[in-house]
Amino acid sequence: MKKLILLFVFILGVVLSCSKSDPSPASSTTNTTLPDVFKNKFSSAVTVYVDGDFIVLKSTAIPNHKSPYFSKTDSRYEAYNGTNANFVINPNSIISQSLTFKIPLNPKESIAKTATSLGPMGISLNGVPLFNQYAGPNQPLAGEINSFDQYNGHPQQTGQYHYHVEPLYITATSSKSSLIGYLLDGFPVYGPTENGKTLTSTDLDTYHGHTASTEDYPNGIYHYHITADSPYINGGKFFGTSGTVTQ
Ligand SMILES: [Zn+2]
Ligand SMILES: [Zn+2]
Repeated sequence: MKKLILLFVFILGVVLSCSKSDPSPASSTTNTTLPDVFKNKFSSAVTVYVDGDFIVLKSTAIPNHKSPYFSKTDSRYEAYNGTNANFVINPNSIISQSLTFKIPLNPKESIAKTATSLGPMGISLNGVPLFNQYAGPNQPLAGEINSFDQYNGHPQQTGQYHYHVEPLYITATSSKSSLIGYLLDGFPVYGPTENGKTLTSTDLDTYHGHTASTEDYPNGIYHYHITADSPYINGGKFFGTSGTVTQ
């Protein structure tokens, strides 16, 4: 009998401790302060919400356009039909990812600028991550350019599709001067033209941006521009304080 009582107490204890460790439902997340640009410009495949001082963006990194990097039996497969005569397909295929970006809701210039790292440094409007100008540690991008598909993206070893340069599907379906996405520091990235002029890196500061008004920020904001010349999207360091990405 004593043993039975002890067993009962033990089971009760397990049940109580389990119920205590259950995660509490929906915390303090609110959607009320999500800026309109985040509500309206991202593809429906990207989940976007505000969490405290951050905007959270969740993406599978699957492009909303065709690619030779989908399986040949997939309806999204399209053989290479771009303009690079030296195109060589890499051995990787597009695989769904689980990326969570947390970027500052109110981006600010950081005093000590931090370097971008390999892997996602930002997210484009269709959820495909933006990578920096390197193929690997101290490796220039040059060796990888020939594996960019007709929309300027390619998958890396784990199947994560990404852009290092102008995402041609996005600029073709919006415009060359439109919003492209955001870097981890919360500052927006625009296409290569502004007020009818095609920009180059020499028009921009060392981080590859400048402060001016844009369609989405009429009062002016610091923003990056994509250019056809290296370093393409960012100069190697974030202008603002970087948020985080988990994968
Ligand atoms: Zn790459
Ligand atoms: Zn600009």
